[in-house]
Amino acid sequence: MSAQIIDGNAVASKIIAEVKDAAGKLKEKGRTLLLAAVQVGENPASKVYTANQAKSCEAAGIEYKLHNLPADTSKDQLRQFIGKLNNDNKTTGIILQMPLPPGIDATSIQSEILPAKDVEGVNPANLGKVVFGEIELCPCTAQGVYQLIKSTNVELKGKEVVMVGHSDIVGKPIALLLLNDLATVTVCHIGTRDLASHTRNADIIIVAVGKPNLITADMVKDGVMVFDVGINRIPLKDEKGNPILNDKGKPRKKIVGDVDFDKVKEKASFITPVPGGVGPMTTAMLLNHVVNAGQR
Ligand code: NAP
Repeated sequence: MSAQIIDGNAVASKIIAEVKDAAGKLKEKGRTLLLAAVQVGENPASKVYTANQAKSCEAAGIEYKLHNLPADTSKDQLRQFIGKLNNDNKTTGIILQMPLPPGIDATSIQSEILPAKDVEGVNPANLGKVVFGEIELCPCTAQGVYQLIKSTNVELKGKEVVMVGHSDIVGKPIALLLLNDLATVTVCHIGTRDLASHTRNADIIIVAVGKPNLITADMVKDGVMVFDVGINRIPLKDEKGNPILNDKGKPRKKIVGDVDFDKVKEKASFITPVPGGVGPMTTAMLLNHVVNAGQR
């Protein structure tokens, strides 16, 4: 059996089209949606993310403003800045770019974002609502994975689900979302003694760890559904196993997930690729949350 590859870009495109439609209707009523991104200091990876956010917002009819704060911004100054955005009527949603400079704890600043403007779903108030099945502003990646699972029309009730990774904004909320649909959810993590003994029993496996090839074909049963959240940059190699270099003499890299995709897809019924699976859904959910925030 070779798995059906779940096209995250296609599912995300549909959501973005709905967002654009909703943003247009709000605009007709005189309400423009504005996503404010806060970046402290310089970071090459963040530059790529913010450029992509700006592009995605433009495509969805949402205004985007990047606030670049100096690298020596103190925790208090950052809190005050977030407070200003909280009180700004034009700002619909706020996104805080990671990483923050050393000494500024992300969770404490995320807690400062007004829950109604917390479009990433990282404020404890929004995280807590997931327990009750309220997912309007739930963490974007978790909701993106949930929507991808739903896009297969699988009946979740009674399914054995293994969630690998227990981070606060990915693994834990995904586990709660699936629990609300009466799946039997096992959460595995760094303390799990025998990961394969759990994954081999799973009807659905979701992996959010950040380790290439963590899930191999011998760890899954036939017909499993696999959702790969991991993003890893690994060196490209030629047939002899030597790194392929770019014109600057540095190793060329490619992006892979946490699953041995080529082999696992031969046993799975559904699988998400990396890239092109969960990633586009995270962005789509972010835009969807801006609309949700604007509508309220
Ligand atoms: P994280 O906070 O680092 O969490 C990783 C989780 O994996 C932790 O719960 C960790 O446990 C667990 N873990 C580490 N080694 C393990 C092992 N050998 N077996 C089982 N569990 C293990 O990361 P995250 O934010 O959840 O992100 C996870 C991955 O998803 C990363 O590659 C990240 O880049 C990617 N990601 C992708 C998207 C997207 O849009 N596609 C969005 C967010 C994240 P401990 O905490 O106990 O060490």
